[in-house]
Amino acid sequence: MTPAASFRSRLIVVSNREPYEHRRLRGRLVCQRTDGGLTSALDPVLRRLGGTWIAWGSGSADREAVGPTGALNVPPEDPAYRLRRVWLSADEVRGAYRGYANQVLWPLCHITLDRVAYRKSYWPQYVAMNRRFLEAVLREMRPRPGAVWIHDFHLALLPALVKRERPATVVSVFWHVPWPGPEVFRILPERQDLLEGLLAADALGFQTAGYAHAFAECAQTILKAEISADGRFVHHKGGVTRLCACPISVDYQLFNEGAKSPEVERRAATARRKFAPRPGMRVGLGVDRLDYTKGLLKRLWALDLFFTNFPQYRGAFTFVQVAIPTRTEIETYRQYRDLITQTVAEINGRHGGEGWQPIEYHEGRIPLDTLLAYYRMADLALVSSVYDGMNLVAKEYVASRVDETGMLLISQMTGSAEELTDAVVINPYDLDGVADAIRQALEMPVEEQLRRMRALRAHIQAQDVHAWVNQCLQDMGLPAASVHACDDG
Ligand code: UDP
Repeated sequence: MTPAASFRSRLIVVSNREPYEHRRLRGRLVCQRTDGGLTSALDPVLRRLGGTWIAWGSGSADREAVGPTGALNVPPEDPAYRLRRVWLSADEVRGAYRGYANQVLWPLCHITLDRVAYRKSYWPQYVAMNRRFLEAVLREMRPRPGAVWIHDFHLALLPALVKRERPATVVSVFWHVPWPGPEVFRILPERQDLLEGLLAADALGFQTAGYAHAFAECAQTILKAEISADGRFVHHKGGVTRLCACPISVDYQLFNEGAKSPEVERRAATARRKFAPRPGMRVGLGVDRLDYTKGLLKRLWALDLFFTNFPQYRGAFTFVQVAIPTRTEIETYRQYRDLITQTVAEINGRHGGEGWQPIEYHEGRIPLDTLLAYYRMADLALVSSVYDGMNLVAKEYVASRVDETGMLLISQMTGSAEELTDAVVINPYDLDGVADAIRQALEMPVEEQLRRMRALRAHIQAQDVHAWVNQCLQDMGLPAASVHACDDG
């Protein structure tokens, strides 16, 4: 599809996080892709389908980059879709984004209840933020009506706001994080508003059937909504919402092809020489945002135990951890980051020596080529989230293992574990069990690795991000073909 044609697509994606941020670096205006699973998954989709993505302009030079129109075409090197930026006030950023979204809904949905830092003052800002997004949606729909696809926990009220203004518009939501049961959700004083905000959508998608079921239970218990016998529809106040379970995925082609490139192979060989300089040495890998839900501390404790229980691996196995700073304005996140750094230093002090350290810790984002090289270099990848809606790193590792070896260790607390049944599934709370699983993976016969990795790769190839979006569009009543073919309204 040519870029010109793609801008005519009528799909309007809305999320808090924007896919591209602008900042000034040494006087130059620089455009960077943002971190995290939502961007990794949706950017390739929008590149293919075209359309508009509405998101908060969070970059320090974002206003300057878009000028008075508030919108521009991205990605910069090959424009394929339109990005409309929403401007939030300082109070909205504080109360809605950092407050209600990141310190209330995020920990609540991940059932880390002691991290819920609820303040009454956050709510009016959350309402105001959702209204800001409504203004942008209406502005985009004025010249050309479109189907609105809303993403994640920052925008739970938006479906109802859009439907009130434009009842005929198809509105769908994809909820990327877990959904808790009613015994947890009832903690929120605003539970009714949130549920009704979401139930205004025509379709409501979750990563797993378990989360969809938990949502239905909340609607039934808290709103006294009626659930259809098959559990797929919620009837409330004369409206009906379809519940869907559709696990998000990765762009298999991008990782599979990218991992084979000569540049990635060269980088992988260099990284291997650095982290496994002696013959027979092995390498493990973790790639995570520095978020407490990723179970990094438990992972480090398990590695500590691994080197204690299996001392033969001292000097013979290096674990590379890439830790991407996130939400650094929030004190809890800064404390978590400090704790991780300190724990890495302790473990390296305890087991390291003679030019080798058990954990090679890299704090900061890494470019795609380096990420691919790390995926190719690593004999095993370890995902130990204490709770995670999906976890795309696990799927990216699999898609990048073009030689079909390597082993994925994945926490049973991730959405991915439900699908990736040929991986070694671990319980992140059972530190001895994780230490044993690392050893098991390192000693797994090549034939077994090949059998498991081939099955994993076949699954991801079939269930990639494009299959996910096609399914979601179908659930919205908009087959992908209709999005391409769409008109100027
Ligand atoms: N990632 C990134 N920057 C980096 C390294 C990795 O954006 O420097 C990406 C990674 O490729 C993956 C995403 O961050 O797509 C993390 O997604 P995941 O679902 O594992 O967790 P999330 O951060 O969305 O909770």
